[in-house]
Amino acid sequence: MESKTLFENIWDRHVIAEREGGQSLVYIDRHLCHDGSFNAFGQLREHGRDVRRPSQTFATPDHYTPTRSADLRDVPDARAHEISTAIDKNCADFGVTLFPWGDDRQGIAHVVGPEQGITVPGITLCCGDSHTSTHGALGCISFGIGASEVAHVMATQAIWQRRPKTMRITVDGKLGFGVSGKDVIIAIIRQISAAGGTGYAIEYAGSAIRGLSMEGRLTLCNMTIEAGSRIGMVAPDDVTLDYVEGRPYAPKGVAWEKAVSFWRSLPTDEEAVFDTEHAVDGDAIAPMVTWGNSPQWAAPVTDTIPDPASEFDVEKRSEMESTLDYMDLKPGTPISEIKVDKVFIGSCTNARIEDLRSAAAVAKGRRAVVSTLISPGSGLVKKQAEAEGLDKIFTDAGMEWRLPGCSMCVGMNGDLLEPGERSASTSNRNFRGRQGQGSRTHLVSPSMAAAAAISGTFTDVRKLMED
Ligand code: SF4
Repeated sequence: MESKTLFENIWDRHVIAEREGGQSLVYIDRHLCHDGSFNAFGQLREHGRDVRRPSQTFATPDHYTPTRSADLRDVPDARAHEISTAIDKNCADFGVTLFPWGDDRQGIAHVVGPEQGITVPGITLCCGDSHTSTHGALGCISFGIGASEVAHVMATQAIWQRRPKTMRITVDGKLGFGVSGKDVIIAIIRQISAAGGTGYAIEYAGSAIRGLSMEGRLTLCNMTIEAGSRIGMVAPDDVTLDYVEGRPYAPKGVAWEKAVSFWRSLPTDEEAVFDTEHAVDGDAIAPMVTWGNSPQWAAPVTDTIPDPASEFDVEKRSEMESTLDYMDLKPGTPISEIKVDKVFIGSCTNARIEDLRSAAAVAKGRRAVVSTLISPGSGLVKKQAEAEGLDKIFTDAGMEWRLPGCSMCVGMNGDLLEPGERSASTSNRNFRGRQGQGSRTHLVSPSMAAAAAISGTFTDVRKLMED
């Protein structure tokens, strides 16, 4: 029997047809929609079409939802309000399961899917959002699609895609204290570059990856798109099964047993060959901070801002100069001396319970010296955090405890930085203006974000926790 990778094991089972030019028609098991999917519903109406498989389509509002109050009118303008409420009528009209605003199950689509057991190993999953790569952490193929493709998936439950090449990134070793999945993925992107994964489906492997919790794996796969790849995956194992079992939409009883035996057959065969392989030293990864307008411009918190003059490649040098100019940073500045104006702990990258626990461990008994906003990834994460008293730790530290949503990751709901402000943010994108016009975003892990909130500068969380 032919040896296959995890990706091939799933992809090959989902191809309905192939056509010249390398395009495959791929069956989609699950489709996640959010408030931004209103255009696609509009297209269905325009053409008199139905949602082909409503039982496999799920929706939750996230991008435009206010986090400050439970009043949907608390969004920046009438258009945002219209978008954030349209999802209710769209889902009712088309028979799509909705986790509505105010329901504990509402949250960021990429938090809700795994949390509800909608995301399981071995499936194909789509969503009209590029960070759909997140779900691959459970050992499935998941990728983001454009607005017209969303309508196509709604109408047909399938999509034409070019089969990507395969890449394995092996991270061996043991992650040190204070080093998380976020640091691993930033270190990977720094090593392979923000375009390093373009055209590939990436499988993360190695002892450091196996040692990550499901939350850590979700963070890792979430930022796969920041390495240029639309698909990131981790092979299903006991960590995956423990996470999935008992979730509302996960298989139960005999169906569970059958599913588990299938899922255990999915991991990459020993003899399987990848188109490309990379190795990353897990022992050497330190808490990371990005300093430029791409996640590849990153360094350990113990480093200094690099000097473009030492860059040999002219194009890269000019890009570094321009990014440092925008970020208002000087070469040679110790990262630990960079002052932050605001801290954001949230987003589909780092707003799960484990993320909030790690931030709370740092904030406990301390006071934030800069404005800090914390938005849990879903209503259920919020509830769990409150049951554990994490909200109290945050508010006692002078931090703002908000409602679930995308919030300051993208600011569509009005949660933004002021022009020129610098953030320590647990989100996934740091390009110019991502958190508001003129905003300067530094990506970090939740514990590093909390450390920056307490110190006012980027601070090595390992040292802070020793004190
Ligand atoms: S949290 Fe940010 S990256 Fe994630 S879905 Fe929302 S806007 Fe996109």
